Amino acid sequence: IQSDEAATGTAPEGGGVVRVAVPVPLRRLFDYLPPESGSPPRPGTRVRVPFRGGERIGVVVAVEERSAVDPARLKRVAEVLDTDPLWPDPLFGLLRWAAGYYHHPEGEVFDAALPGALGRGGQPPEPPRLWTLTSEGREVEPASLGRAPRQRALLEALQDGPLSEAELRTIAPNLRGPLDRLAERGWIEARAGSRVAAPAVEPEPGPDLNPHQAAAVERITAAEGFDAFLLEGVTGSGKTEVYFHAIAPVLERGGQVLVLVPEIALTPQLLARFRRRLTPRLAVLHSGLAEGERLAGWEAARSGEAQVVIGTRSAVFTPLARPGLIILDEEHDPSFKQQEGFRYHGRDLALARGAREGVPVVLGTATPSLESLYNAERGRYRRLHLPERAGGADLPQVGLIDMRGVAEDGGLAPALLREVAATVERGEQALLFLNRRGFAPVLLCPGCGWTRECPHCDRPMTFHRGRRLLLCHLCGHHAPVPLQCPEAHCGNPDLQTVGQGVEQVEQALARHLPEARVVRVDRDTTQRKGSLEAKLDAIQSGQAQVIVGTQMVVKGHHFPGVTLVGVVAADGGLYSADFRARERLFQQVLQVAGRAGRAERPGRVWVQTHHPEHALFGPLRAHDYAAFAEMELAERRAALLPPFAPLALLRAEAGTAEAAQAFLEAARDLGREQAGPDGTRFLGPAPAPVERLEGRYRAQLLITAGDRKALHRALAPWAPALEGLRAGRDVRWSLDVDPADL
Ligand code: ADP
Ligand code: ZN
Ligand code: ZN
Repeated sequence: IQSDEAATGTAPEGGGVVRVAVPVPLRRLFDYLPPESGSPPRPGTRVRVPFRGGERIGVVVAVEERSAVDPARLKRVAEVLDTDPLWPDPLFGLLRWAAGYYHHPEGEVFDAALPGALGRGGQPPEPPRLWTLTSEGREVEPASLGRAPRQRALLEALQDGPLSEAELRTIAPNLRGPLDRLAERGWIEARAGSRVAAPAVEPEPGPDLNPHQAAAVERITAAEGFDAFLLEGVTGSGKTEVYFHAIAPVLERGGQVLVLVPEIALTPQLLARFRRRLTPRLAVLHSGLAEGERLAGWEAARSGEAQVVIGTRSAVFTPLARPGLIILDEEHDPSFKQQEGFRYHGRDLALARGAREGVPVVLGTATPSLESLYNAERGRYRRLHLPERAGGADLPQVGLIDMRGVAEDGGLAPALLREVAATVERGEQALLFLNRRGFAPVLLCPGCGWTRECPHCDRPMTFHRGRRLLLCHLCGHHAPVPLQCPEAHCGNPDLQTVGQGVEQVEQALARHLPEARVVRVDRDTTQRKGSLEAKLDAIQSGQAQVIVGTQMVVKGHHFPGVTLVGVVAADGGLYSADFRARERLFQQVLQVAGRAGRAERPGRVWVQTHHPEHALFGPLRAHDYAAFAEMELAERRAALLPPFAPLALLRAEAGTAEAAQAFLEAARDLGREQAGPDGTRFLGPAPAPVERLEGRYRAQLLITAGDRKALHRALAPWAPALEGLRAGRDVRWSLDVDPADL
């Protein structure tokens, strides 16, 4: 049943062959006869098809006259699941193009782009019922419900017009009870219906734009069709205001806007801001949603019911009935890159999508990725600058604390502890950033050198004091903390920790500032639903005096009371094997610095380092991202790294190191043979940075070429040929085009 793209074979009787992308790890399409009755399904619809003794849900990509396969051997489509295509043509085209660009099986691309329930053959939901105020409900003064805050919030929201349950849930989680109570009282009712024609509510006005913001808005709204904008502005410079003003006219014209944000930035505060300022007709899409909610959001976007669709990476695949604008905030954020399965980059697909749908794309950031800067320099993006903080607050001063020979405690230099104490004394807030969970990355026996490594990953397990366990951050394996050295000949009861995590910083603060109220924000302290919100509230209300956090505190939050930021450990990023480490470090420090001094009070940032002479610190102290980027781009150019040379990475993992190695060697030899002397280079194989993960051995092969075209010329025949390599039989492998790290 294999087919070629340009089939010239025999035509079956009764018209047409249905070419289907089936979600299996094979880079080809499959031909089927149309169903017995009815007309052949249209491209972009789902079909149920027989496949290798079972059944699969695939997506029709074309209906052709003839097949390369003898029609007598073709099987029939078992069921057509959709009458209309699931994606408008431009988006469908984008998905097909993306499968080609990433050399990924097309069926798996469609599967990744669909909400899970649809991928399994479910049906898109009916339009959601809408809750509205009854005439009695309109008479009720919400303030009179002061003792039932959730009922009050719901009633207030409904005064602006009908809302679906999914939308109401973004206002008050757990709304079943309050909704029922309001309905029992006869104040609200649910009905089927659509608001597409309903008049828009009057959104809350914002501040007057400053001239830089106004200029940016003007450039964006003047775009006709596709154009790409790189909106550069430090945290607090008013980028979000620019988004609002660019979005409003699109909504007025009846268009929809897709807003993509990093995983961590999708906070209730951000949603509330969008709702107040633009529209309550908001669909939210992220991986944490229950399946039904996700499907409802997807359908609201597709039907045009939702005016603004906000989501993380995978929301880039959401169909829009009337696309008008795409915004991607924090465009440099690594979370836009999908790191498993279909390994796409959300930013790159957002741009390709804008080009196909003919709508402008705005990339906003304080610290552009070097790729985007390079594209802007080459004139592919229009640059928009917001050079100063809205409201005129000064950028915080950045200073270094030389850690050489310093008697640190819990990772904190005495100088930093003094600064924190003085800040708390003044009634202001301090924020300490350390991107390491747990108490210490290593537990060590000083007697014999024993450390506890993960039995599956060969990496030290992190000591979590609060949870009383050792945890592997790579695979999640955990083990109890030994009371003494487990080596039989040793048994030393005095185990020591090496290095620091946020838990240890928190403890050091408790020792030195016993009166201060410290809040720790990391994955371990925010697992319970609502706990992150509670912590953010404590910070915003000024209850918390010192905040200790991982990257969870870096992004998206407004902490106006913070006037001191401490970067506890910067050294890891200075001399890393990862070619993006310095870029990330610079971005993170500027971003966390952006938390400081947002209000009237100027902020101060201290960076602890053992390498104060490092070239990165000059530009960092001057907040000069452009100077840093220039330096870093020069190094990338010299080393032939992105954005100057395109890369792809073939990753393999197997039960033994030899099997992974052998597969990659066979792949390399095949690639060299296929590519010939056209400049594509296959480098390796080499062990992966994490050589063993969950008990499997990992290695990788790097592919690079003089330009993107040459790279794709080499990958196109190679990727499908890898599927047939004998050495690959017991190997799990994946191809990563434009990998985030090597
Ligand atoms: P960013 O998205 O760049 O971090 P925001 O748009 O969130 O910046 O703006 C930061 C703060 O400054 C917000 O409280 C916002 O309301 C305020 N702000 C933005 N633009 C203006 C302006 N032109 N005048 C006054 N305040 C502004
Ligand atoms: Zn020991
Ligand atoms: Zn592990």
